[in-house]
Amino acid sequence: MPSIEIRTEVPGPRSRAWIERKERAVANAKALWVPVFVESAEGALITDVDGNTFVDFAGGIGCLAVGHSNAAVTAAVQGQVARFLHTDFTVMPYDSYVELAERLCARLPISGPTKAAFFNSGAEAVENAVKIAKAATGRPAVIAYEGAFHGRTLMAMSLTSKQHPYKAGFGPFAPEVYRVAYPYEYRWPAGDACEGALDDLRRAFTTRIAPEDVAAIVIEPVQGEGGFVPAPAAYLKGLREICDEHGIVLIADEVQTGFGRTGTLFAIEQSGIEPDLVCVAKSIAAGLPLSGVLGRAEIMDAPGDSTIGGTYVGNPVACVAALAVLDEIDRLELCARAREIGESLTRRMRDLQRRVPQLGDVRGLGSMVGLEFVRDARTREPAPEIATRVAEHALQHGLVLLKAGLFGNVIRNLAPLVITDGELAEALDVLEAAIEHAVAAVAA
Ligand code: PLP
Repeated sequence: MPSIEIRTEVPGPRSRAWIERKERAVANAKALWVPVFVESAEGALITDVDGNTFVDFAGGIGCLAVGHSNAAVTAAVQGQVARFLHTDFTVMPYDSYVELAERLCARLPISGPTKAAFFNSGAEAVENAVKIAKAATGRPAVIAYEGAFHGRTLMAMSLTSKQHPYKAGFGPFAPEVYRVAYPYEYRWPAGDACEGALDDLRRAFTTRIAPEDVAAIVIEPVQGEGGFVPAPAAYLKGLREICDEHGIVLIADEVQTGFGRTGTLFAIEQSGIEPDLVCVAKSIAAGLPLSGVLGRAEIMDAPGDSTIGGTYVGNPVACVAALAVLDEIDRLELCARAREIGESLTRRMRDLQRRVPQLGDVRGLGSMVGLEFVRDARTREPAPEIATRVAEHALQHGLVLLKAGLFGNVIRNLAPLVITDGELAEALDVLEAAIEHAVAAVAA
């Protein structure tokens, strides 16, 4: 029996009624990517208030590696809710925070002693990683990448690259943020992207900021909002060497890549390098607000007492959810599953690419596969209009998709890793039909 079931037009009448109320009551900046109100969700499926069931390739923007309504997570949360909701860990501590720190540190690809601190959102994790790096080095500057996304708070927004919609009109930004090229192979103008991007970083130390003033370099091992662009392992190795040479803290922002999505618990593991700090969020607690900075103990211990924190950070409900998430990732072998999902999706899309040259690039790491659309395979001119139509057509046929990319021309897969083979096959049929439809419609 198929999982996808579309009973009404999309959005259906109940969703439309809610959208009207939403437009009157909710700030316009909270525009909807998918104009469908949710009734319930389980695994990789979402049922809306009109009774339509969709396969979810958005996963709450990558928060649901273990799936919607995961039974182990739900039981852990319910158990904690019945015990207590909040004390503030620094006022009166609780076991789940410490256990989570121990378990995550044990899994970090960092040798030597490591420690953790928890926060609420990905942006907060990045803000705090930068503060920790500044405290550890006594230096003011941070280097970030073209195409980077690190969140919407002041430092995170300053590190973020894309101007519209994230930055324009919101300056002045945090000072001492310097930008270098990301090794974006498909869009590298000429020559080797890895070498070229390493050269750009070395040049930055002459033309943009002296290396002895740089506290940290923040990199996404696979750029998320930037379009699912993986950094080649050779680049990350070169970056590690440059950081070592200049005493710079290397921060891996694994907010979107972490928790199995790329085929390993942390994406950076696949490069063979050790970062100094790792930012985590999103799938860590299956959708509950929790984030963390994990890393070398001597760096994590640098900030003084009470300099990092917040009232709700490391909430006990979210911490027990995260412990259950870690168990589920192991029990269900979700890292291996991420690799399988990525292989199926990539195989199918590479076949399609032979017939559809506007599908310019199919790339990624594990299940984090991005499909980049172009108007012309030779000029590689971005085609955001194709990506938009793909997402719209797919939604009408029961697949929730998200776009990404500096030019808004990438479709990305953030499906829960618990997606079944049957659901994945259905989703890929819808995706393929949506791409063929969109390309034909734009050409017409
Ligand atoms: N860093 C990365 C790599 C992200 O993808 C995101 C969110 O998409 C963030 C940071 C910000 O996380 P949050 O939206 O939880 O603040």
